Amino acid sequence: MDKIRTTCAYCGVGCGITAEVTGSVTGARSVVIRGDADHPANAGRLCSKGTHLGETVGLEGRLLAPIIGDAAVGWDVALDAVAERMRTTIAEHGPDSVAFYVSGQLLTEDYYVANKLMKGFIGSGNIDTNSRLCMASAVAAHTRAFGEDLVPCTYDDLDAADLILLVGSNTAWCHPVIWQRIEAARAARGTRLVVIDPRRTETAEQADLHVALAPDGDVALFTALLAEMRARGATDEAYLADHAETPEDFWADLNPAPGVDAGVFAQLADLVAAHPRMVTLFSQGANQSLSGTDKGNAIINLHLAMGRIGQPGCGPFSITGQPNAMGGREVGGLANMLACHLGFADDERADVAAFWNAPNLCAGPGLKAVEMFRAVHDGRIKFLWVMATNPAVSMPDATFVREALARCPTVVVSDCIADTDTARFAHIRLPALGWGEKDGTVTNSERRISRQRALFAPPGAARADWRIICDVAARMGWGEAFAFASPAAIWREYAAMTALAGRHGKLLDLTPHAALSDADYAAMQPFQWGGEHPLRRRFPTPSGRARLVSLTPPSPEVRDPAFPLRLNTGRYRDQWHTMTRTGLSPTLSTHRREPLLEVHPDDAAAQGLADGGLARVETASGSATFRVCVTAGQRPGDIFVPMHWTDLMGNEARANRLPGQGVDPHSGQPGFKNTPARVLPVSPAWRGFLATCAAPEPTGMLWWSRARVGHEDSGGWLYELAGDGAVDCDALLPPGARLEASDPARGMRRIAVRGPDGTLAAALYLTRSGQLPARDWVAAQLGLPDVAPTELLAARPSTPLPERGALICLCHGIGERAIAAAARAGAGTVAAVGEATAAGTNCGSCRPAIARLIGTALSRNTEAA
Ligand code: SF4
Repeated sequence: MDKIRTTCAYCGVGCGITAEVTGSVTGARSVVIRGDADHPANAGRLCSKGTHLGETVGLEGRLLAPIIGDAAVGWDVALDAVAERMRTTIAEHGPDSVAFYVSGQLLTEDYYVANKLMKGFIGSGNIDTNSRLCMASAVAAHTRAFGEDLVPCTYDDLDAADLILLVGSNTAWCHPVIWQRIEAARAARGTRLVVIDPRRTETAEQADLHVALAPDGDVALFTALLAEMRARGATDEAYLADHAETPEDFWADLNPAPGVDAGVFAQLADLVAAHPRMVTLFSQGANQSLSGTDKGNAIINLHLAMGRIGQPGCGPFSITGQPNAMGGREVGGLANMLACHLGFADDERADVAAFWNAPNLCAGPGLKAVEMFRAVHDGRIKFLWVMATNPAVSMPDATFVREALARCPTVVVSDCIADTDTARFAHIRLPALGWGEKDGTVTNSERRISRQRALFAPPGAARADWRIICDVAARMGWGEAFAFASPAAIWREYAAMTALAGRHGKLLDLTPHAALSDADYAAMQPFQWGGEHPLRRRFPTPSGRARLVSLTPPSPEVRDPAFPLRLNTGRYRDQWHTMTRTGLSPTLSTHRREPLLEVHPDDAAAQGLADGGLARVETASGSATFRVCVTAGQRPGDIFVPMHWTDLMGNEARANRLPGQGVDPHSGQPGFKNTPARVLPVSPAWRGFLATCAAPEPTGMLWWSRARVGHEDSGGWLYELAGDGAVDCDALLPPGARLEASDPARGMRRIAVRGPDGTLAAALYLTRSGQLPARDWVAAQLGLPDVAPTELLAARPSTPLPERGALICLCHGIGERAIAAAARAGAGTVAAVGEATAAGTNCGSCRPAIARLIGTALSRNTEAA
């Protein structure tokens, strides 16, 4: 089989993959995935999500034909309908009555034509992207300081640094291959690591210093750190004189109070002062804040003032969440950018209008994501086209967003998935290509552009996003400007357009690619625009100097007694966004099968919450219910829930019902990380779980969530259930021969169902008082014949299996007991545990968890001694 070099579908690390297609028959596609040893971003490494991409390439749940209402239609009918509705809306209400909400999952070529259509031809700035939720604050901070949205670092700087500060980044979970590079640098050169994060995450557990600051304490911390470096004489006055514009009173106005323990601050200051080769890597924990842009500039100020930028091992380094968030930023997919890093000044608009020969170039910026959905809600936007994203789940105040979608006269959704929470509001659904079918380019966090290549033929009637957009543009009368025959043709036009960026003093320059042949485009190797350190000599501002930005930390908050806690939301290691892909993988679903509310023991005790029980989180915007996880990793007063669960994966567990619509004033990025909240225990009359090959959508429950279990071909779903009323078993269970046991006195009921072929189709376990059995053995029996009735009803084999404990290493199937045993037997490092058990020796995503288990096992050994 041929090996195809492509890139991972998920995060902004942008890992290279070699894919070997082993089956491509429709519905039974398979592929062997390996890290690409020649890709500079990952040098062969992959995390758990990338490693298990092959489990998600089947056609389950795919949208394979255009749909209007509930009826499948041909492409011509669907495209005519989209164009007609858009044309009518514009004619009646003007160009600003239409909007595109797009995604960092789009390829650069898709993004380019979507932006060109909206801003150049429809004549509105109303195209914004879900990258607004991810790193718009970093974009605004870069632009304020550097004059252009430009990341000054590369991953090689992580290898060369002596000190790495991670700010608002659970890197070990969210950017695992970057974490592996940091681990390697620490092993090779003793790089010191500081984690600045309110939560004690698995990343923070591995740090030399964890600074557990209060939510949104970053600006105070970094401005105080800068004042401290100035007081110590550690700032670089010569660099500042040559390379920076410093506002009057900048130094006099610096905040001196770091907002963290004085001893911890002194340790941090000592490390910063002692290590000139310093990278500060910041991510969504910094960006998703009402002060996110100021946080970025506080970090950049420190680097500029110490001359720690533009040279190896140095720099402020924003890393993106999505695989092509950066590509979208480059072409202009954000509403407040025009195209190719250009803005809306008259001369920039004139150049863009001439280049595109655009008849209706927009006059100014469009509406950013939160504003856009407000405009949909109040009727200013009457036509919304959502591409490759799921705002009904991912936007803050998602209940409001759903109301907006329900009110909108025309909602078009292009997606590869048929049934998403957002697709349920669509009037027209267009089947797009998914990962493994698309062909184009992506840009990762270090400005490295790589090809994403198709592995499989398009399934059903699915089409590339760029082609759908161009087909609609042609029906609007702009066929000539959108007559692209291939992604390569779009790439050439985009590359040529970057000449305009250079004309206006920007550094984005892809012009050498403007005449690339189709064959050279097909064979394109990963490359980095701007080189390793594009800000080495001058900055793309009119003066050629960077700008220090005067900052005022947010005022100390006054907590409302009605909402005394602070809610933070974020990612799990093995899930991606709204789980439409990773949620299909049994392996990836093992890491966290339920959404957990993480709460400090003091807060749990104060609120009457029990570990493993249920609790409802309430905010001014809404409520949601989660399984309680009591952990000292949370600061007292702060709680955390994951962002991934949708209505399809649970009835009450959507985290984004909870954050409000507040945004950073500069970037428009919502503040997901610091929402006033309260928690209340939930005490259902009964609890249970259901292992099933089918996928029922339970009704009448207080709470349910589900996760994929078993094998790709014979697996099913594991549901956690809780309720107050009668249990409608018939609605949950498939038809078939039933085995049943019950004990009314103990409130216990168990039912197993065999299908016509005798295999286990489902098993339901309910209790009103006692404990529920372990899930793993039951889930593993789904689809198997001849499981003994007594074993099924007991939920365990008659010959007990060795107890594995929680699965830690997904790749090798190693549980916590084997790892703890190896540690107790003398394997005192992650590498030694790997040698003893193989755990952590493949993708490496579990290594922080192994380190934690080693620590626990060794401390128990010490206590026992
Ligand atoms: Fe994919 Fe993991 Fe690499 Fe991110 S770190 S690009 S999820 S393999």
